[in-house]
Amino acid sequence: MKLELTGVDSRLSAVVLSALVLHSASTGSAEESSIELIRKHHGIDVRCTLPDILPDGISAKESTDILALRYSRNVFHPELGLYPPGLLKRLGLKTIYVVNDLVVDGTDAAAIVLPEEGSLYIETVFPWRNVYLASTLHHEIYHLIDRKDGHLNDDKKWCALNPKSFTYGEEFDGQDGFFTEYSAFDMAEDKAELFSSLVMFENLVWQKCKTDVVLAKKVALIKQRTAKASSGRCSEAFWERASWRKWNNQGQSFFEREENY
Ligand SMILES: [Zn+2]
Repeated sequence: MKLELTGVDSRLSAVVLSALVLHSASTGSAEESSIELIRKHHGIDVRCTLPDILPDGISAKESTDILALRYSRNVFHPELGLYPPGLLKRLGLKTIYVVNDLVVDGTDAAAIVLPEEGSLYIETVFPWRNVYLASTLHHEIYHLIDRKDGHLNDDKKWCALNPKSFTYGEEFDGQDGFFTEYSAFDMAEDKAELFSSLVMFENLVWQKCKTDVVLAKKVALIKQRTAKASSGRCSEAFWERASWRKWNNQGQSFFEREENY
């Protein structure tokens, strides 16, 4: 930004100018450091520019660097910080593309993770609340955990937990075992939805588990598999820390407590 000094009190103008420059520099460095810290701690790049060739079946438009910076600071950096350093890279995540108008196989999509490429495309064109974006991020991360665990497409043990009357993709009439309606869409989405709900709102999930035995069994299996896929690094301490992270009315996260971590 170009600033011109026209006032008679050049000393005062110089003070104002230096204050503006300092403010601008500190705002910029705080935002840049979120992206830098994500790269440093997790080995993941956050980009608002698209790759030269988009993967088959995906279309998207470039987002803006302002959105990439804002979501890195408010959502990606704090939420990825729940995971042990290096784990997400080991699960195969290399790049987060912040995009607009994401369409996957002809359908508008909130996000998609492509494990073979190590890329996660995430939609930000809507004025989403940070909470929803965070929830989407954790959902996609579970698809990577599921793949690492070897149950992404074939999971008889999981399906056997569902009520006998239930079939994925059919009209959902509120059977036990599902925390969100989208969970009933298909098996992989069910697992990703439950993981994300646990990371975001574990207390609410446990409330439902008091009267929903199927859901309680699914929670136990998700936690067991997450621990296994992370070589034990995402076990009780991970879930405990996630439960300390709360959201205020402005959609900003904070930790209710930090001790012993
Ligand atoms: Zn999904």
